[in-house]
Amino acid sequence: MAVRLALGLGVTVVMLAIAGRRFFWLFQLIASGQPATPSRVRDVPARVKAELAEVAGQRKLLQWTVPGVAHFFTMWGFTVLLLTIIEAFGALFQRDFHIPVIGRWAAIGFLEDFFAVAVLVSLAVFVVIRVRHSPKRENRRSRFFGSHTGAAWLVLLLIFGVIASLLLYRAAQVNTGNFPYGWAAFASHALAKALAPLGTGVNSVIETTFLVVNIAIITGFLVFVSYSKHLHIFLAPVNVATSRRPRALGALASTPDMSMEDVGDDDEVVFGAGRIEDFSWKQLLDLATCTECGRCQSQCPAWNTGKPLSPKLLIMDLRDNLFANAERVMAKNRAAGQEVENLVGTVIDPDVLWSCTTCGACVEQCPVDIEHIDTIVDMRRYQVLMESDFPSEAGLMLRNVENQGDPWGLGASKRTDWIESLDFEVPVITGTIPEDIEYLYWVGCAGALDERARKGAQATARMLHRAGVTFGILGPKESCTGDPVRRLGNEYLYQEQAQKNIETLTDAGVKKVIATCPHCFNTLANEYPGLGGDFEVIHHSQLLDHLVRAGRITPGGGYAGSVTYHDPCYLGRHNRVFDEPRSVIDAIPGATQIEMRRCREKGFCCGAGGARMWLEENLGKRVNMERTEEAIGTGADVVSTACPYCMIMLDDAVRANAKEDEVRVLDLSQLLEESLG
Ligand code: SF4
Ligand code: SF4
Repeated sequence: MAVRLALGLGVTVVMLAIAGRRFFWLFQLIASGQPATPSRVRDVPARVKAELAEVAGQRKLLQWTVPGVAHFFTMWGFTVLLLTIIEAFGALFQRDFHIPVIGRWAAIGFLEDFFAVAVLVSLAVFVVIRVRHSPKRENRRSRFFGSHTGAAWLVLLLIFGVIASLLLYRAAQVNTGNFPYGWAAFASHALAKALAPLGTGVNSVIETTFLVVNIAIITGFLVFVSYSKHLHIFLAPVNVATSRRPRALGALASTPDMSMEDVGDDDEVVFGAGRIEDFSWKQLLDLATCTECGRCQSQCPAWNTGKPLSPKLLIMDLRDNLFANAERVMAKNRAAGQEVENLVGTVIDPDVLWSCTTCGACVEQCPVDIEHIDTIVDMRRYQVLMESDFPSEAGLMLRNVENQGDPWGLGASKRTDWIESLDFEVPVITGTIPEDIEYLYWVGCAGALDERARKGAQATARMLHRAGVTFGILGPKESCTGDPVRRLGNEYLYQEQAQKNIETLTDAGVKKVIATCPHCFNTLANEYPGLGGDFEVIHHSQLLDHLVRAGRITPGGGYAGSVTYHDPCYLGRHNRVFDEPRSVIDAIPGATQIEMRRCREKGFCCGAGGARMWLEENLGKRVNMERTEEAIGTGADVVSTACPYCMIMLDDAVRANAKEDEVRVLDLSQLLEESLG
């Protein structure tokens, strides 16, 4: 008894001291980050809800059924098995220890054994998944490519050790008469039968040995966790609780003050993140929390088309840099003027940084709510605003937006060309919007200026007119919302554009806005409020759905054929508009919908977001080709979408595949109009 007490407590004290020191160090390191915006403590009900859904309910993990269920049982197994840890430590002091009140309940004994077995089964599932999807077999296709697979195997072994030693000492306890539960603890009793022939003496030795082994593995596991990717066991609940709510999609996290008004001569001003210490504490927490599960990587359009960007590897590289420079970060030596190399070019390859389309698939998938896009855009901001170092072709787009108000540089005078072919008048608002006009139609640069996208804008205008919706446009007074320049990292130009547009809309007395471009929609609805522009913004797919449901447009039999709908990232994932466009297509009597394999939350990007529309795509396969091949593969007659960028990208790829005679790319409004005959 004395030996097992000494061994058990000795191991525990040493391991807890090591783990405690490490956790304190981690806390200091993460707390050294910059303040996080927006607030990570406000909106407590949403945070509690997220904690219940994502940590307790494992919502995101369960979207991947088999590994999700296995993880669910492992997570809950370890939670329930906390009771066995209390029992193990109690047994160090008193061999027939039981937890007061509940410690002899059959239900508790059953639950403990049930989860012990469930964890063992889950471990077997993890082993099969890791073997089947090993990077050695699947190379880049494996979501574990680049992860620390050795550490993952060690963790599986440690978990097996915890459960095996637990069941062994419990079985021996049955035979020595020290076990607090009856037959409901079915696994312990079944194993006890096998050990019974060894006699009470041997069982007593087994009991002591595996009790101490169990405590040693658990406390050793704690130390290992504190030094490995399995930190997520402790950090994931904190990361989920402090993530942006309702989610880290839609608007970008921060709108830095670009005014420089309160900056003194000696102040060092940093826009974006060029060094690891420039990130906020939440971004540093993200880095430490990554589980290396690779779900983000498996969905990333850049990674899936052979580009060097993997959101997982980006997070892991930044984490390595954080840990390697921890002392400097904690000492806040940037303020002391120490020369530190820029992250981009040393830790993050520029091709990695500029490959991101900001599609949001990584953020959507991440089970621990890591906010990749904010981190990527912060590094882009530093490159653009502090280093003036970005892909040369982006320079033209930035100049065009700055000088002409649109990325193509066609100029304000062209913004009304698209209405010339309409057979009704579209009012161009010059002063205040008249009271009899309900909506301001924000056409967007693509809708107003690009030949193919104009067809979508024109069809939208005709549908609205037909349904009796009153609307006007700003014409030459409309200017780029700033979405592409913001995603590229030029926050200064974005804020200039945003302030100009907010002023125009406010001066015109605009209350309600229709947008056809999801990028404009997202910026107007989610980002302009941060700069004082509060408008009621609706996407044309939502309005068309409303008009169809209200009977103000009745789809006819003019279209007959199959349709596959492509979810624009900034409409679907970023703004959760998945159902409305599909509902419009469903209302067309002759249209049969076929879903692509990657749809809705898992929709695959067209390759244009994040300012990628204006950047060369020389690495790997073109993203629009990958997506269009999937769309063509459905055999649909029409690929429909609700975004001018997507339309341009998909149409380009259909032509590049020489399939334009077989498949048409149509905006939702064009398809609806065609159905009317
Ligand atoms: S936002 Fe999209 S492209 Fe960018 S890293 Fe995430 S998944 Fe990849
Ligand atoms: S960032 Fe999230 S999804 Fe990606 S590997 Fe890490 S934990 Fe998994």
